[in-house]
Amino acid sequence: MCMNDCIFCKIIAGEIPSSKIYEDQNSFAFLDITPINPGHTLLIPKKHSRNIFDTDDEVLKQLAPKIKKLSTAIRDGVGADGINIQINNEPIAGQVVFHIHIHIIPRFENDGIKPWKGKEYDKGEMEEISNKIKIHI
Ligand code: AMP
Ligand code: ZN
Repeated sequence: MCMNDCIFCKIIAGEIPSSKIYEDQNSFAFLDITPINPGHTLLIPKKHSRNIFDTDDEVLKQLAPKIKKLSTAIRDGVGADGINIQINNEPIAGQVVFHIHIHIIPRFENDGIKPWKGKEYDKGEMEEISNKIKIHI
C-alpha cells in the first residue's frame, strides 16, 4: 500500500533517491541521510504503517530476520563493535517520519554516544506499574 506524501513510500517507489542496501518482496533498507555513525541504516516494510502501534504482526514477523541479517552485514561491513536497534514511535519519542522504520545503528568504541540514564522506582511503584501494564496484554 502506498501513501501519498510519505517520503519513505516514495523512496521505495524510487521517486526519491536513496542509498539502498537491501530489498526484497516485503522490505527495503537504505542508509540514513544523517547517520549517528557511518552505516546507520533504516529498515522499512513496503506496506505503509505509521509506527509500531498500527503495524500488522505479519509485517513485524517478516522484518525480524531482516534486522538480524542487516545488523550482521553492517557490523561486518563497517567493522562495528556493536549495534543499537531502535524504533521511535510518535513525536514525543522522536519520530519525525511517519512510516515505521527500524534504526540499525553501528557503534564503535569511544564513539562518544552516551546510553540513556535510568531512573529509580519509588517503593511499591514497580509492582503497581507492572500490574497497570499486564491488564492490557
Ligand atoms: P525518526 O526520528 O525515527 O522518525 O527518524 C527519521 C530518520 O529518517 C532520520 O534519522 C533522518 O535522518 C532519516 N531520513 C529522513 N529523510 C531521509 C531520506 N530522504 N533518506 C534517508 N534518510 C532519511
Ligand atoms: Zn509510507
